[in-house]
Amino acid sequence: MAFHLYTEEEQDMIALAKQFGEQSIDPVIAEFDEKGEFPAAVVDTGLEMGLQSLNFPEEWGGAGLSTKAACVAFEELAKHDMGVACAYSVTGTAIAPVMKYGTDAQRAVVRQKIFEEGGLASFCLTEPGAGSDSGAARTTAVKKGDGYVLNGNKVFITNGGYAKLFLVIASTDRSKGSKGLTAFLVERGTKGLSVGKEENKCGFRTSNTVELVFDNVEVPAEAIVGGEGNGFKMAMYALDHGRPYIGAEAVGLAQRALAEAVKYVQQRQQFGKPIAANQGIQWMLADMEMQVEAARCLTYHVAELIDQGQSVTVNGSIAKCVATDTAMKVCTDAVQLFGGYGYMKEYPVEKLFRDAKIFQIVEGTNQIQRIVVARSLLGK
Ligand SMILES: Cc1cc2nc3c(=O)[nH]c(=O)nc-3n(C[C@H](O)[C@H](O)[C@H](O)COP(=O)(O)OP(=O)(O)OC[C@H]3O[C@@H](n4cnc5c(N)ncnc54)[C@H](O)[C@@H]3O)c2cc1C
Repeated sequence: MAFHLYTEEEQDMIALAKQFGEQSIDPVIAEFDEKGEFPAAVVDTGLEMGLQSLNFPEEWGGAGLSTKAACVAFEELAKHDMGVACAYSVTGTAIAPVMKYGTDAQRAVVRQKIFEEGGLASFCLTEPGAGSDSGAARTTAVKKGDGYVLNGNKVFITNGGYAKLFLVIASTDRSKGSKGLTAFLVERGTKGLSVGKEENKCGFRTSNTVELVFDNVEVPAEAIVGGEGNGFKMAMYALDHGRPYIGAEAVGLAQRALAEAVKYVQQRQQFGKPIAANQGIQWMLADMEMQVEAARCLTYHVAELIDQGQSVTVNGSIAKCVATDTAMKVCTDAVQLFGGYGYMKEYPVEKLFRDAKIFQIVEGTNQIQRIVVARSLLGK
């Protein structure tokens, strides 16, 4: 990595993320993964360091890093655990529309609850009947007096059991479909908002994934982010913001799997020599390296576009898709290179392989990313 491209503050934060991964995540994370438990105390340590605020402006209490530097920090974190990395990056996804389109009062709430008190946030879009088709959301927000009443269920919500703030996409006008959606900033503890089922997952087990239930949750009109009827736009802005981070985390995960494989193939002896001496193994390693490097280039290109203020809808989809497909492929190949041992929990690639799969599903499945790219080609 060309460190000279980053400011001193950015370099310090990247080094801190790396150190946090090595010292605070690595020693304990396998146990949390085994239990399927959110490592709350570990995540809190990172919150105190400001990992949830990386590329938000300093004037609003953020760390003020460029998107590109924040991506490097997320890549470092994901080498150690992507559940922990995503606790911070998903917080960023949830609050991004508030920082861009919210009111000063809303930004002040984010500043206090997320940056100063060190809290997490959740992005609440998905529902039982509205996954890829997020415009079909059935959670309603009905006007009552000066405010709104929210009713409905959100599922698969990352950080939901711990978040202090929720960006909730609800329908204020069902007849208008996605154009009738509105984003609300809801605080934890608001009457009627409760945490439902916690998911027991195959991988990504250190991330908290829950259902949220909205039962007559009353919020003031001031909770609307970006104006009534602009909820779909807010959600898409949030996802555009989050995709380079998912890409960077996928690159970090793949890089870790590759590093573990490179070490292993030099130690493991078969037929009287290290398995690395076989050209078939060397070509697999070379392909893995090429794929990781290509994914990294695409991801950091998108981060640069964001830093230049350019639209990244299509490039973000390309980078998210390539980086996460790469993570899955590289982790699968890493397990293959470990042979039977790669399938065992004593070896690190087993967890990386399980964790990698979710990247192809979250923040828009990779089929949906391909639809975005195809539509842009066909001028739709
Ligand atoms: C661990 C985890 C964490 C998550 N965190 C969050 C979160 O914090 N906030 C949040 O709002 N959501 C979250 N999600 C939800 C996630 O974004 C959705 O799961 C995802 O968007 C897919 O929706 P779905 O699961 O309903 O699948 P579906 O939309 O039912 O899709 C099923 C399959 O059909 C494919 N498909 C659907 N439509 C098309 C089409 N038109 N063309 C081609 N293929 C199609 C999909 O790609 C997929 O392969 C999370 C999910 C998981 C599993």
